Amino acid sequence: APASSAPASAGGPSGCAPLPVLGWDVTVPLVTGEEVTYAALDYAASAPALQRVWDDVAAYAPYYGSVHRGAGYLSQLSTELFENARRTVAEFLDCRAGDQVVFTRSTTDSLNLLAAALPDDCQVFVFESEHHAALLPWRGARVTFLDAPDSPEQAVRALEDALAARDPSPSSRLLPHSRLRSSGGTPMSRGGPNGPALVCVTGASNVTGELWPVRELAAAAHAHGARIVLDAAQLAPHHAVSLRELDVDWVAFSGHKLYAPFGAGVLAGRADWLREAEPYLAGGGASRKVTRREDGGVEVEWHDSAARHEAGSPNVIGAYAIASACKALGEAGFGALAAREERLIRTVRDGLADVSEVRFLSLFGDAAPRVGVLSFVVDGWNSSHFAAALSAEYGIGVRDGLFCAHPLLRTLLGGDPQDQGECGAPEAAPGETSLNAIRVSFGAGT
Ligand code: PLP
Repeated sequence: APASSAPASAGGPSGCAPLPVLGWDVTVPLVTGEEVTYAALDYAASAPALQRVWDDVAAYAPYYGSVHRGAGYLSQLSTELFENARRTVAEFLDCRAGDQVVFTRSTTDSLNLLAAALPDDCQVFVFESEHHAALLPWRGARVTFLDAPDSPEQAVRALEDALAARDPSPSSRLLPHSRLRSSGGTPMSRGGPNGPALVCVTGASNVTGELWPVRELAAAAHAHGARIVLDAAQLAPHHAVSLRELDVDWVAFSGHKLYAPFGAGVLAGRADWLREAEPYLAGGGASRKVTRREDGGVEVEWHDSAARHEAGSPNVIGAYAIASACKALGEAGFGALAAREERLIRTVRDGLADVSEVRFLSLFGDAAPRVGVLSFVVDGWNSSHFAAALSAEYGIGVRDGLFCAHPLLRTLLGGDPQDQGECGAPEAAPGETSLNAIRVSFGAGT
């Protein structure tokens, strides 16, 4: 429904009515010269912002000011809204006592922040099927890449085997980091015979939409003394994410996939590694006290709070927009939203079922539970040409390419896939075997 026809009260706990979203009344010209209402089916990349988010941001915009910096009214107000936003996100994620919520630029930024905060000698375990944002940030660490599994059960088994290979005896399991420090000041980097370990896993694949067995993977990680960070970029817009229930140590997500624009994201979870690490960015806001030393250098005391990793003037509008989206989604209720999304998934699948050339991509099988993300290839078609035709001839916006998950696409498609979609003009001619894929994605806000 176009935003203009959807009253602001359309969303709500009781019904499955769509939350009002901007972006649906955009008209686009087709190659035929006709104009049609644009169908944005690329929510997994960026979801249109909720009307409520725009309204909240518009109401705050005249009062925008710098946070934590002044006694003036606008600074005070902005500080309060920024810190309230932090509390709203903590509630949305069902954070535990002591967890921190750090505002970042995006999921990529959040995972890079965590990578920069890893203790020395940390070993990282990650499936090859992850988005590059989860696959690549761990540059300073020893990384074990696990093959893409063919079922959720196999994912858990593969992780258990990999962790057991590192940690064969239960007696060598790591103590929680906080206990290590408080029991005799053992340095964080020397957590146990095998050192600290981190598992990074997605909640829902940005390629197949399939849900991953996060709770089971967290249990496996913890049983072997490892910690786990959840990449919830695709999960958080569709399902409730509870740090407490999933028992994950950290979660990362992006505002722009959660119906909130303005380049902000979140890393939330355990404070200890973050508190011990050097600030992600050095500068004002992260530092509590800076003094000149006798030798002419400077001595810095950094904050222990989330501010430690938020140096500089933070993106207060971005944080405020995320909090507004969290509230809207919380009030709408994920149960109702998921039911609506399920119908959308079925509509797309049923609609394409009779097209014998269409092959859906999945790791866990076509019937596996998923969020509103479906990728497929059309035999005999180059995916980039297909996507370009959908846009030019029908006004339907989809994603084509390798979706920043090259190893996974290589596994799913075979051969040497080409990310033509991201590089502009497709090179392969229509009729050639597709070396990349098409993705349609939507959210409950539509
Ligand atoms: N993780 C997953 C599963 C994603 O789908 C994406 C983006 O598509 C990211 C991480 C990175 O998100 P961002 O580009 O907002 O940093």
